[in-house]
Amino acid sequence: MTAQTLECEVLIVGGGPAGLSVAATLPDHVSTIIVHQDAEIGKPVRTSGGCWLDDVERLGIPSEFYQVMHQLDVYSDNKEAHFQVKDNKLVVLNITDLYQWIAQKSDHKQRQLMLSTKFLSTTKTEDGGYLSTIRSRHTETTQIKSKYIIDCSGVRNAVLDDLSLKEKPDRTGVGIEYEYPIGTNKADHAILFVGSSVLSGYGWVFPTADGKLRVGVGVIHPDTDVSPKKLMLDFLASDDVQRFGLDLTGEYEVNAGTLPSVAYDPGLVFGNVIRVGDSANFATPTVGEGIRICMDHGEALGRALGETICTNDPAPLKRYESDCKKALARNYHFGFLTNKRFSLYSAKDWDKSIRRISHLSESELVALLRSEFTAKMILKATYKMLKQKLFGPS
Ligand SMILES: Cc1cc2nc3c(=O)[nH]c(=O)nc-3n(C[C@H](O)[C@H](O)[C@H](O)COP(=O)(O)OP(=O)(O)OC[C@H]3O[C@@H](n4cnc5c(N)ncnc54)[C@H](O)[C@@H]3O)c2cc1C
Repeated sequence: MTAQTLECEVLIVGGGPAGLSVAATLPDHVSTIIVHQDAEIGKPVRTSGGCWLDDVERLGIPSEFYQVMHQLDVYSDNKEAHFQVKDNKLVVLNITDLYQWIAQKSDHKQRQLMLSTKFLSTTKTEDGGYLSTIRSRHTETTQIKSKYIIDCSGVRNAVLDDLSLKEKPDRTGVGIEYEYPIGTNKADHAILFVGSSVLSGYGWVFPTADGKLRVGVGVIHPDTDVSPKKLMLDFLASDDVQRFGLDLTGEYEVNAGTLPSVAYDPGLVFGNVIRVGDSANFATPTVGEGIRICMDHGEALGRALGETICTNDPAPLKRYESDCKKALARNYHFGFLTNKRFSLYSAKDWDKSIRRISHLSESELVALLRSEFTAKMILKATYKMLKQKLFGPS
């Protein structure tokens, strides 16, 4: 039964970092509704929160919401590399605090936040707008009439899929993470691990600013059909826990999430339906890091849409689309090639790779993790591939 019809200029589907950042920069007078299927912003946690000090400072994120790492250790089965990152340090974000902080930025605006509310479907109306159907856990089905819809539903692509504008990604990164008390673990050391315990993916150990230690694994489906939970249980029972010097005692919470792992597609604006964040595959292809990118481009979209609404000129939205392409397309093309290559690596390949990684400079390592490829790195990789094609594997 349909109870009522709400109206707004902009309907935002999904209250993750992308959707909340759009709302944060839309002009105060633009009426906005965010529908978010979870009961709280930033809970449950579906991500592990790795980011970079330069970015969190640029984004103005309060320092109590992140923990700065002074060392990054990388392990494969038989090799290890240790980096003391000095310039652009890795940080680990407190996800719930951060997302609630972004949400607060639009509290004073003409913005309504509907929690425990799921976007179900939408249809185009004669005046060029949209009539969407939503369902809340507490009330019956409701309709929302809006001029614009922003798809920020992450991997679900809820709006674009319903309108048959884009399909749901057929290749995804799926991860699970156990959050332990920090105990005797070093609060400024992060670990990444690869190899036989987590083929077609990687694992991580991230200390947080609120006294926790996040230990997680993620793999790519369908490149492997192993469940992250099984990998996690195998890892916890393995000698690696001792080898990495981990103290995993006390009660733990479980976080889990999924993100797209497909080639970058620059189409973002489909008339009055626009996408940003994971629904546009914005997380980096090398390690699946997306929060800062979703915040940056979410803010850019909020500003562009505000201009379009005020001037009735679609040009700012087109500029948003081309700016994203300029920022991401080239790097994500090479990043995705790397992702596909890494996904097929055997434990032996990883040993060789970690040996090579141990010779990287700090800036080269950071560039690889951020999917920011310099011309020198691309030339080196192309030369290697060409050599392999001509003379076979070395
Ligand atoms: C295991 C894992 C580890 C990660 N680690 C990192 C990391 O270390 N650092 C980093 O920067 N990034 C990391 N990421 C990526 C990062 O989490 C994403 O890039 C980022 O969260 C995307 O933000 P978003 O707002 O686009 O989507 P999301 O954060 O996915 O938010 C979308 C929200 O929309 C809601 N939603 C979905 N469908 C509907 C619907 N029909 N109606 C209403 N609401 C809906 C969902 O509940 C969800 O909360 C990781 C991701 C995963 C899965």
